[in-house]
This record gives sequence, structure tokens and C-alpha cells, in this order.
Amino acid sequence: MKLTSYWLDTSTPAGDFRSTPVPERVDVAIVGAGFTGLAAALEIAAAGGSVAVFDTHTVGWGASGRNGGMATTGLAIGLGSAIKRYGLDTALSMFTEYNHAIDSIEDLVRAHSIDCDFERTGKMTLAMNDKQYQGMVQTRDLLAKHLDHHVDVVPRSQIRDEIGSDFYAGAMVDPAGAGVHVGWFVHGLAAAAVRAGATICEDSEVVTMDRLPDGRHRLATVRGVVEADDVLVATSGYTGALTPWLQRRTVPVGSFIVVTEPLGDEAARLALPHRRQAADNKMLTYYFRLIGDRMLFGGRARFSLSSPNSDLKSAEILKDALAQVFPHLAGSRIDYTWGGLVDISMDRMVHAGVRDGVHYSLGYSGHGVQMATYMGRQLGLKLAGKDYRNVWAGLSYPAVPGHFGPPWFLPFVGAGAKVLDRLGVVV
Ligand SMILES: Cc1cc2nc3c(=O)[nH]c(=O)nc-3n(C[C@H](O)[C@H](O)[C@H](O)COP(=O)(O)OP(=O)(O)OC[C@H]3O[C@@H](n4cnc5c(N)ncnc54)[C@H](O)[C@@H]3O)c2cc1C
Repeated sequence: MKLTSYWLDTSTPAGDFRSTPVPERVDVAIVGAGFTGLAAALEIAAAGGSVAVFDTHTVGWGASGRNGGMATTGLAIGLGSAIKRYGLDTALSMFTEYNHAIDSIEDLVRAHSIDCDFERTGKMTLAMNDKQYQGMVQTRDLLAKHLDHHVDVVPRSQIRDEIGSDFYAGAMVDPAGAGVHVGWFVHGLAAAAVRAGATICEDSEVVTMDRLPDGRHRLATVRGVVEADDVLVATSGYTGALTPWLQRRTVPVGSFIVVTEPLGDEAARLALPHRRQAADNKMLTYYFRLIGDRMLFGGRARFSLSSPNSDLKSAEILKDALAQVFPHLAGSRIDYTWGGLVDISMDRMVHAGVRDGVHYSLGYSGHGVQMATYMGRQLGLKLAGKDYRNVWAGLSYPAVPGHFGPPWFLPFVGAGAKVLDRLGVVV
């Protein structure tokens, strides 16, 4: 079993940027070479700006190279909860932004010929009980009434048309959801950004960031110093002491994945006949999809941070969970396991704005394949002086009480989530 991301193991980097010289001066310096940072760099460079992206590690080392590759519709919180919090119009416009975000990935893939198995096989949300299923029926009706967006609901009696499992009480299928090979996608974004003129510096942790008297910024990396008119922080679940204000607003939660051996076409088809991008409605969600005839199965198996030891323990838990959901896959060998950090915000909403002259976008709360790419593009447009969209701009951005460094409270959050799951509560 490989303790590495299947995506990064089966794709080729756009280049080796570990010794690219740190430029002395750029229009925009970006911290973090994931979807947010690279998509922003592409827009800025395409508009003629000088831009450099710095990463402590390599392109896609963070969540962007470690996720489930599911570019799905809908907010991290349910539509009903969003309507209660923000009112109908705002909630609907936030919901719609995720559809735009998936379209934006499709655009990028086409425009830059990024060969990354983008496929619109649909998103499937799975209900744990009848109450959750009834919530899906209401969501379907709301979407049809207010947005003319059509999703199907699948009752328990017909669930076998969608999934080879009796574990769930029903499902909602949204055809707009898509899957992508995120290794090829993140490397393709990096290649497109470099072709447009962006500089990428890997092995280049930004250790300090200071404001100069003229309003510009000086960033000291471990490989050199750069001055920039503007800065974008795109560090997601890896946000650290460089930006304490953002760190206090971001809970880094470990999410873990296993990928099976090739199962053969028949076993794969039996599991997910329409190759949907699936996730259930638990707080400690299971999410799964096919990659070719392998099954990718992920979850917040344990409320801990990712490490080799933690990833191995999570693999055991996920192997049991896979067998619980798909009994016919119980004996399947696990070929890959890894984990990564998801950036959860207090309100589980995206936060994109500017603080002390530093731009940021994070808080994707497990829904960043599409939204990180999209918001990266939007902030890139903004920094290039063009029209852009930011439906998250008006949200207040609360700090996590008591959170000043490593997240000591995760086990307690995990215990709370387990209780909510036992009660069948959707938050
Ligand atoms: C296991 C897992 C499964 C997921 N599954 C899905 C999914 O199926 N669908 C979905 O929509 N979302 C999913 N997500 C979430 C999604 O992957 C993220 O929201 C998205 O990739 C965030 O991208 P980003 O570019 O903002 O940050 P990241 O890709 O995390 O990049 C941040 C980068 O910042 C760098 N960095 C941090 N500090 C510094 C510093 N001081 N100097 C230089 N560099 C620094 C890090 O090295 C890192 O590479 C998943 C996440 C995980 C971990």
C-alpha cells in the first residue's frame, strides 16, 4: 500500500520549480501553490501582470493534490440552513456560485487543453434516514421553484438503481456535478500559469511578511526576499503563523482517503452504475467515486491531523467503512492511502477579502475543488484590475474561540460530530 496521493503518483509535474530564483519584485506575490494560488496567478499573468507563487513544498502538495476530485454543486451547509441564515435571495445566489465554479473548471480545462478526465457524471448526496431524505425532497422543490435547477430524488425503494448498497435511506442526484483527476488538473493549471508568464517558486516557505511605508509588501522566503505591490494568501488548511488573523479563523481538519486495487468493470458498475460523485449526509461524511475501475473512498475517519501514522489508522477505519457500505468490496486490496487538511471556517462558508492590504480566499470547508479554482480566478481578475465576482464579500468572518495555534480542540469536535451523526442531524 502506498502512503501517497494516487493523483500525484499518477500525474507528472509541469516542471521542477524548486530552484527557480525568487524574483526581486513582482506586481503580485501569492502564498500557496494550490488551486486558489495557481488559478489567480494564471489570470494575473494572462492580463500582463508580473506574478510569483511561493509554496513551502511543491505544486499541489496541499489539499489540491490530496482531495477526492469531486467538483460538486451546493454549499457546504444545506440550502435550507443557508436560507434561514442569509435569506432566500442571498442563499440562492451563493448556491448558484458553485454551479458557476464547476463551469469555470470546465472552461479552464478546455481553454488550456488540460487533459484531466473532467467528467460530468453528477453529484449524489445520500440520506442516512427518512428525515434527511424528506429534506432532499424539499431541496429539490426549492431548486425547481426558485432556480429552475433540476435535481432528482431517489427513494430507498429505488436506491439500487444508483448505488450497489442498502446502507442509505435515499439519495439526491444533481447532474451538474463533475469529477476530475486533480493531479493532472493542478499540474495543468501550473503549466498554463507558467506559459502565461507566472513564476512558481517551490521549496520557498514565506516566513515573514511586512508592509513597507509606501504600502507595498516585503516577503522573506527561505530562498530569498521579494517585494510586491499586492499579496494573495491562498494557504487553505495549511494556514499558519505567517497570517495569525487567518489562522484563528481556520480549523484544519484531517480528511483521509483510500483507493482500492482495480476492481474489474462488473464490481465497479455494481457499486456506482452511473459513476456519480457521492457523499453522504453524516457530519463524519463518507465520500466516494470511481477512478477508472478503482474505488476512491474517503472520510473524516478520525478527528486528527494527517501524518503517516494517522493516515494508516484512518486507512483501517475507511477499509471497514468501505465494506460496510459496499459489502461486495469487503475483500478488496487497498493500493493507496493518504490524508490532508480541510480548511473549515466557523460558519462553513467561503471567506474572501482583504485585511491590512493582504488579499485572501479560504474557508472552502471541503468544497474547494471547484470553489478554490473559481475564487482564485476571481481574485486574480480583481488584482489584475478587471471585473470579478465575490458573493462572500459581505460575510462576517468570526474567529474560532480559543484557537491561537495547533487545533487542540479537534478530538472534542470529533466527539460532538459523532453524537450528531448518531442523532441523524444535518447541520
Ligand atoms: C482529503 C481531502 C479530500 C477533499 N475532497 C474534496 C472534494 O472531493 N471536493 C472538493 O470540492 N473539495 C475537497 N477537498 C477540499 C479541497 O481540496 C480544498 O478546498 C482545495 O484544494 C484548497 O485549495 P487551495 O489552493 O486554497 O489550498 P491548498 O491546495 O491546500 O494549498 C495551500 C498551499 O499553501 C502552502 N503554504 C502554506 N503556508 C505557506 C507559507 N508560509 N509559505 C509558502 N507556502 C505555504 C502549502 O504548502 C500548500 O501547498 C478535500 C480536501 C482534502 C484534504
